Amino acid sequence: RAVIELREARKVYRTGEVSVEALRGIDLSIAAGDYVAIMGPSGSGKSTLMHALGCLDVLTSGSYRLDGVDVSELDDDALAEIRNLKIGFVFQQFHLLPELTAWQNVALPLMYARVPLGERRERAAAALDSVGLGGRADHRPGELSGGQQQRVAVARALVTEPTMVLADEPTGNLDTASTEDVLELFDQLNGLGRTIVLITHETEVGEHAKRIVWVKDGVIDREQVNRA
Ligand code: ADP
Ligand code: ADP
Repeated sequence: RAVIELREARKVYRTGEVSVEALRGIDLSIAAGDYVAIMGPSGSGKSTLMHALGCLDVLTSGSYRLDGVDVSELDDDALAEIRNLKIGFVFQQFHLLPELTAWQNVALPLMYARVPLGERRERAAAALDSVGLGGRADHRPGELSGGQQQRVAVARALVTEPTMVLADEPTGNLDTASTEDVLELFDQLNGLGRTIVLITHETEVGEHAKRIVWVKDGVIDREQVNRA
């Protein structure tokens, strides 16, 4: 079952007289349970594609179906809800709130979704357990290592049971050991059936995915299958 279906996706940025065609006709299907890395040189369109997949920006033309829903038809409120509930974002810079504890950070998407406090606590605790940080629920980000902070961010991405985890250079801010740690976690989550889309410019990181989609000049240049 395809959870992501991009058809003839085009994105043109217009700044005054100048227009840049950042995506020039991308067709991409991603099935439930897949683990895909999007790779390519700087300026190839990875960030633009990430923003489209994350419903952070709309396509100039073409269609995007996420979990069967035609996203191009939705208004801003509906898109914000999809971002919060259906997409688990993981960023290079963790984006944890420093004054909140680990579990409170993890529970934020549930708070936006108006889930009651007791249920928020329970689900945040379970998500922290699933990334191996059950013992750190009451720690603030400043009391955790970089790798642990990124695990908290992954728990926050998982807490809503999203359609996909969308990770934008998730290891870009981590040392080698923490990078291995987070990639091992992604392997494990994918093994449990999670759909993961990873944007990276690091080949060693992309090799962890089942499939690499190489983007070049706004089109898919080639696809590489790493494992079934
Ligand atoms: P990558 O993430 O692979 O480096 P981007 O998606 O950031 O690639 O950029 C693709 C192309 O679109 C580049 O030519 C870039 O300069 C251009 N671009 C990206 N964002 C904007 C923007 N907001 N306004 C104008 N041009 C942009
Ligand atoms: P609203 O439109 O209600 O303010 P947001 O635009 O903050 O909602 O988006 C909701 C979700 O989208 C949040 O969970 C947030 O993590 C994610 N999000 C918002 N802005 C960005 C961004 N620039 N990059 C990646 N994810 C973002």
